[in-house]
Amino acid sequence: MKIQIQKDVLLAPYTTFKIGGPARFFVEVKNEEELIEALEYAKENNLEYFILGGGSNILVSDKGFDGMVIRLQDTRYKIQDANITCGASVAISKLVIESVKNGLTGFEWAIGIPGTIGGATAINAGCFGGEMKELIKKVTVLNKENLEIQEYSNEECNFSYRSSVFKDKGKMIILSIILQFKEGTPSECEQKMKEIIKKRNQQQPRGLSAGSFFKKVSVEDEKILQMFEQESGSKFEGNKISAGWFIDKIGLKGKTIGGAQVSEKHANFIINTGDATAEDVIILSSLIKQKVRTRFGVQLQEEVQLVGF
Ligand SMILES: Cc1cc2nc3c(=O)[nH]c(=O)nc-3n(C[C@H](O)[C@H](O)[C@H](O)COP(=O)(O)OP(=O)(O)OC[C@H]3O[C@@H](n4cnc5c(N)ncnc54)[C@H](O)[C@@H]3O)c2cc1C
Repeated sequence: MKIQIQKDVLLAPYTTFKIGGPARFFVEVKNEEELIEALEYAKENNLEYFILGGGSNILVSDKGFDGMVIRLQDTRYKIQDANITCGASVAISKLVIESVKNGLTGFEWAIGIPGTIGGATAINAGCFGGEMKELIKKVTVLNKENLEIQEYSNEECNFSYRSSVFKDKGKMIILSIILQFKEGTPSECEQKMKEIIKKRNQQQPRGLSAGSFFKKVSVEDEKILQMFEQESGSKFEGNKISAGWFIDKIGLKGKTIGGAQVSEKHANFIINTGDATAEDVIILSSLIKQKVRTRFGVQLQEEVQLVGF
């Protein structure tokens, strides 16, 4: 066997929340052959598995994950004309910086997002008006059912808000991606990137988190939509309102349970102040959901994926 399967590996260090218990089995794989070996091991031993990227959009339970965590380790990338072909585990910020240096525009919005391009593609990450779906030309995956390599065009990825065909319980494991950019100039791209860095620093807290905890909410209630427009001074996008606005309205900024705290800077960020447990985060997020539901009749849904619960 080429791969080295480890036992009882603590997952907290592999997440940006720095929370979570051990994976019963843990393996890092560099290529498709090693991935297949890991999947076969999981199948033979009747283990559930979880594909881990940068761990920046997940909350791992305190008791950990009773299966196999597979971490991809392909960080190769190649720039050709206006395309970048990259392995699933290349860091998002690395790709933004490389594209900017080469005068390729369209990805500046992603600067500062931790995590990998595989994770960003799986969840159709986005912010400041940009989304992964605008850049994806082709995605190469391993289908876990038949262990075959398949290619997906942009349309076949079925991208929607924070979702794609790849989110379907790890059925498709993203191996590599071709991103398609527009031609720009390095100085214009750098300027755009700097503006995003400034906005991100103004709006988002620095502490340990998994980014926005809840998804934006689709709202039909005219009264809520009007209240949002008047109070926030911003237009809603297609009836979607940031979960942070609701959490701020119910006065939960700064609310702390154990080591978990609703950020004072951005109400949709739950921060691990140092010694938070997953249970602290879950109790705090349940309180938020219950209060928002009672006050606005709105059901918040987690953007962060819960692992091992
Ligand atoms: C400070 C901070 C700021 C953030 N800002 C943003 C933001 O502006 N916009 C935004 O959208 N998100 C944001 N996030 C959340 C997160 O960084 C992104 O969603 C990121 O794209 C997740 O990538 P990851 O590699 O860390 O995925 P992980 O958290 O490791 O995994 C997320 C999901 O993707 C799946 N996955 C990972 N790799 C693969 C693969 N190769 N094949 C198939 N499935 C895979 C996992 O199984 C899991 O279901 C932020 C997070 C933090 C901590």
